[in-house]
Amino acid sequence: MKWTDEAEAAVKKIPFFVRKKVRTRVEKEAAEIGKTGVTLSDVKATQARYLKKMSSEVKGYQVDACFGGSGCPHRAIASEVLVEKIERIMADADLLGFLKLRVQGDLKFHHEFRISIADCPNACSQPQIKDVGILGAATPAFTKIPCSSCGACTNACKEDAVVLSESGEATAIDYKHCVHCGSCVAACPTGTLETGKKGYRVLIGGKLGRHPRLARELPGIHDAETVVRMIGEFLAFYKTHSTHGQRFAQLLTDADIDEFSKKWAI
Ligand code: SF4
Ligand code: SF4
Ligand code: SF4
Repeated sequence: MKWTDEAEAAVKKIPFFVRKKVRTRVEKEAAEIGKTGVTLSDVKATQARYLKKMSSEVKGYQVDACFGGSGCPHRAIASEVLVEKIERIMADADLLGFLKLRVQGDLKFHHEFRISIADCPNACSQPQIKDVGILGAATPAFTKIPCSSCGACTNACKEDAVVLSESGEATAIDYKHCVHCGSCVAACPTGTLETGKKGYRVLIGGKLGRHPRLARELPGIHDAETVVRMIGEFLAFYKTHSTHGQRFAQLLTDADIDEFSKKWAI
């Protein structure tokens, strides 16, 4: 559907996390009244209706996942099962009921507890700016199969984390720089490199808004069951401390994150 320049400019002023939704709705509502293009008045009419209805559309939480499951070749881990489990604990936590009790006035999307899962460190679903961010991780390890010095692993590694000997053999991984993407393992033709520990990195405390902050990573690579238990603890912390609907990320001090780091260090 064709948009006028004024309509395009107006929709760009809407916060990015609801823009796509508003855009789709503007087109749907314009089509419903027989229009083939979108003007500024269509945007304004839909925006007014949308903001009025927002309170009834808030569900208390958002769980986003990247597009790894659609066949992305970069996946370090397949997280569909974990996403389902997280959806379940978030639904069971009745965050909508909790927010209704704590928030004075209408509920807005920005009240919702946000979790984002990405299947690799490319982090397409932006876990760094969510209350809880989860990143798929595959750690490379060496087998006993001799290295052919082909260089495929170093070419695949964007972090320069594969250590080579003078003769070009891969001898070690520099784990200070490795982001656990698994690309070197996928590239190795001999089997010298294999996937060692596989799981998830967990970040907490990310948010946008007036006081934006990137989420901080807790140490370790965790299995799916541990991630679910961690989320249970984050929810308990949130429900204890969010007296009038403050977000988890807003509540967390650096000292709180240090405490969670100590607790879940492995
Ligand atoms: S985060 Fe990684 S696996 Fe997920 S869509 Fe992006 S590149 Fe693919
Ligand atoms: S897992 Fe990724 S970052 Fe780590 S060494 Fe291999 S290619 Fe480099
Ligand atoms: S890709 Fe495998 S065989 Fe080639 S240099 Fe790296 S470890 Fe050695």
